[in-house]
Amino acid sequence: MKNFRTFFATRYGQDFLNNTLLVTSLILSILSLLFRSIGYFFSIPGLILSTILLFRFFSKNKIKRSAENETFKGFMTPITRQIKLIRSNLKDSQRKYFLCPMCKKMVRIPRRKGKVEITCPTCHHHFKARS
Ligand SMILES: [Zn+2]
Repeated sequence: MKNFRTFFATRYGQDFLNNTLLVTSLILSILSLLFRSIGYFFSIPGLILSTILLFRFFSKNKIKRSAENETFKGFMTPITRQIKLIRSNLKDSQRKYFLCPMCKKMVRIPRRKGKVEITCPTCHHHFKARS
């Protein structure tokens, strides 16, 4: 039991990049099952991603894995921000959501007020948008 614990304490483990690799490889596995005739088209990239996932999970070089994760997060931030914006606009029928062009923070205003000038509460940048 002690060896088991020390083994995992010295390994990198799970992070945002590994979670993304896991979900992507699962989706690819499902697609390879659904489209059996071209299954290799999905299963080979899925296997490659799973191998990277296992390598990263059991890696002892925590500093390098952490740096990879931070780079990946930086790459994914604009995408996750856009997804959050679309989701907020779909959920809320009373307010419209925008991203401040300067600081990229989400700003919300009441809907159906025509073209308005918005002042970002974070960086005080002014920009025009249709509500
Ligand atoms: Zn701003």
